[in-house]
Amino acid sequence: MFYDVAVIGAGVFGAWTAYKLRQAGASVLLLDAYGPGNSRASSGGESRMIRMGYGPDEIYTRMAQRSLGLWQELFGERHNLFVKTGILWLAHDQDPYCEATLATFQRLGINYERLDHDELARRFPQISLGQVTWGMLEPDAGVLLARRAVQAVAEQARAIGVDYREEAITSPARGLIRTTSGEEILANRYVFACGPWLPKLFPELLGERIYVTRQEVVFFGVLPGDDRFNAGVMPCWIDFNDLVYALPNIEGRGLKLAIDAHGPEFDPDTGQRVVSESGLNAVREYIAQRVPLLTGAPVTETRVCQYENTSNGDFLIDRHPEFENIWLVGGGSGHGFKHGPAVGEYVSQIIYGNITPEPRFSLATKQNVQERKVF
Ligand SMILES: Cc1cc2nc3c(=O)[nH]c(=O)nc-3n(C[C@H](O)[C@H](O)[C@H](O)COP(=O)(O)OP(=O)(O)OC[C@H]3O[C@@H](n4cnc5c(N)ncnc54)[C@H](O)[C@@H]3O)c2cc1C
Repeated sequence: MFYDVAVIGAGVFGAWTAYKLRQAGASVLLLDAYGPGNSRASSGGESRMIRMGYGPDEIYTRMAQRSLGLWQELFGERHNLFVKTGILWLAHDQDPYCEATLATFQRLGINYERLDHDELARRFPQISLGQVTWGMLEPDAGVLLARRAVQAVAEQARAIGVDYREEAITSPARGLIRTTSGEEILANRYVFACGPWLPKLFPELLGERIYVTRQEVVFFGVLPGDDRFNAGVMPCWIDFNDLVYALPNIEGRGLKLAIDAHGPEFDPDTGQRVVSESGLNAVREYIAQRVPLLTGAPVTETRVCQYENTSNGDFLIDRHPEFENIWLVGGGSGHGFKHGPAVGEYVSQIIYGNITPEPRFSLATKQNVQERKVF
């Protein structure tokens, strides 16, 4: 069969792209090597935060806002795939990122509450404030149940006519797109939404422009009947001064905590997904200070995932410089999940030339240095 578009990769970016293209009338084939939301994919975790706050970067605030609406529309009756926990930013006295976020919220009319130190301590006694002097609560933000949410998008895409196949595609040679069993995939356009695999598929072009880092996530068990860490009582919180974030206890998995600093290089196919002793010690040390009530709490679950980082954290959504029917979509850089719907919408328009390209997503802006600016 000959398709208008073949989308390779059914992570959050590819699944939403296929869905949006089909909604726009295209015939679409969606392929994934391991399946939507699989354990190796960056979209494969239990949960991902969706927040509007992005410092001065209005572009991502707007995309997150648009995406939240589209996620909720997709879930419809399945409201349980979005948990409105609220997201709390923990800020210091001198805190340019949080101050810029607050200014963006005011400019764009985003709902937020500014909380001074005493108010924070009163409302969230589970969190020990240390150097935190104020905070900002996004009451409408929350958590997407990631793996199931991606599967829901892929399922919905199939329901409206997207064909899906579980196949791996080899590195394109002379612009030909083939499965590992040698079959040619025929389409007018190809979208490679392969997340952390993009540098392997396009080594010369992206080998040094997207760097894949190992990231560890730890869940801590709470005492029976202790609701202080539950969604609805404790919001998600972000402490970007220490590059740490936490999610409340959702579905009994425990409090989720992760260090957002980039870890060592990682191979998404062959990497072992077992957390390190040093990583565990680091989160234990952090939790003893920030959440003393959970000092010594048991680890109930761990995960190893990967970020696929561009030089500064901006997404990569651009045409391949040699093959004009091949598009590259990725560079989620540890913050992409929430934006799946807006990315899918953008890709479905840009590949038909229906909108002006966003310069920040261009290949030309992707350097081979690591200077993270978007968090
Ligand atoms: C620990 C962790 C926490 C995060 N927290 C957040 C958060 O709170 N909020 C947020 O917004 N974002 C967060 N992110 C970032 C977000 O999860 C990613 O940016 C996003 O999931 C990337 O999606 P993707 O579709 O680009 O890639 P992926 O989800 O990796 O999808 C790529 C897909 O391509 C397939 N594929 C690869 N190669 C081939 C091939 N050759 N042939 C066929 N298929 C192929 C893979 O199987 C995979 O399914 C987090 C990431 C991690 C790792």
